[in-house]
Amino acid sequence: MNTAMGTIVNQTIYMQTEDSEIPEEILGQIVELEQELLSWRLDTSELYQINESGKTEEGIPLSEELEGILEECLKVSNASEGAFDITLGDVVQLWDIDRWAGETDTSGYRPPDEKEVQEKLAATGYESLQLENGSLFFAKEVRLDLGAVGKGIALDYIREYLRQQEHVTGAVISVGGSILTYGSKPDSTSWKVGVVNPHDNATNIGYLSLSGEWCVSTSGNYERFVEIDGTRYHHIIDPDTGYPADSGVSSVTILTKDGLLSDALSTACFILGWEKGSVLVEAFSAEALFVDMEGNISMTEGMQQYFKLSDR
Ligand code: AMP
Ligand code: MG
Repeated sequence: MNTAMGTIVNQTIYMQTEDSEIPEEILGQIVELEQELLSWRLDTSELYQINESGKTEEGIPLSEELEGILEECLKVSNASEGAFDITLGDVVQLWDIDRWAGETDTSGYRPPDEKEVQEKLAATGYESLQLENGSLFFAKEVRLDLGAVGKGIALDYIREYLRQQEHVTGAVISVGGSILTYGSKPDSTSWKVGVVNPHDNATNIGYLSLSGEWCVSTSGNYERFVEIDGTRYHHIIDPDTGYPADSGVSSVTILTKDGLLSDALSTACFILGWEKGSVLVEAFSAEALFVDMEGNISMTEGMQQYFKLSDR
């Protein structure tokens, strides 16, 4: 089993000629992407440096890659009325779910108190970011967190890499809850991508039958959470409240051709819920499948041709 970006990476790759280097190189690409561009934790990354420099009058010059990423993120923020917000870094760190979700003993976990949450939340807001001539301007000091899109961005990089490997004929690669299909299977049947049952994540509620070049991202309250006295604190924060989102959704799966977008939309839709979320995905020509707390499934019309329920 391989890990990168703090998550599990699974790779199935079909090649004309055997090349055992490829899975290693793909892992290396994900690690590099995190170390050089996206991590808020590693001081080697461009994002880390931006967070360190804080608010400046002159603006911070960006690499072309990060400029493109931030531009896409801001589009989703605008379209989702701020449900998706990469400036929540301080609030996300205050909740500290990522660290505690990995612990076996969580009895020491204390959710932050209301006052702390409100203080941190006051210092957030995607509207305070502005991109101009390749530089980033902050109207107030916020800390950026690209945790909601990192895995999707990794898929976009992996697809670019695979396109350069002429002997690769097909692949399905998952980085945590984000999955890329590429090329075709040797027997020409479609790729099957399972949709996890959020209420029993060892099983699937069904699967998507896909051709190559799709990205599937799922956000769910079962992925990273801490449970204290029957209350589940998960890792997706509602920017309106500063608390883990509580829209009646257990998981959202997004299908689209762009990795970053699939990942951003899954997070946004988890917060927005079905009514608003299904309108949002339509604006981006993406498809969505929601599972609510009771296990009911709702999906966009376009999703129906790809999704099949598991036999129960
Ligand atoms: P995902 O699992 O793709 O839905 O991403 C969840 C991660 O995105 C969290 O671990 C946080 O790092 C970050 N995050 C949490 N809430 C939000 C939000 N409302 N907008 C953008 N990023 C968020
Ligand atoms: Mg996401």
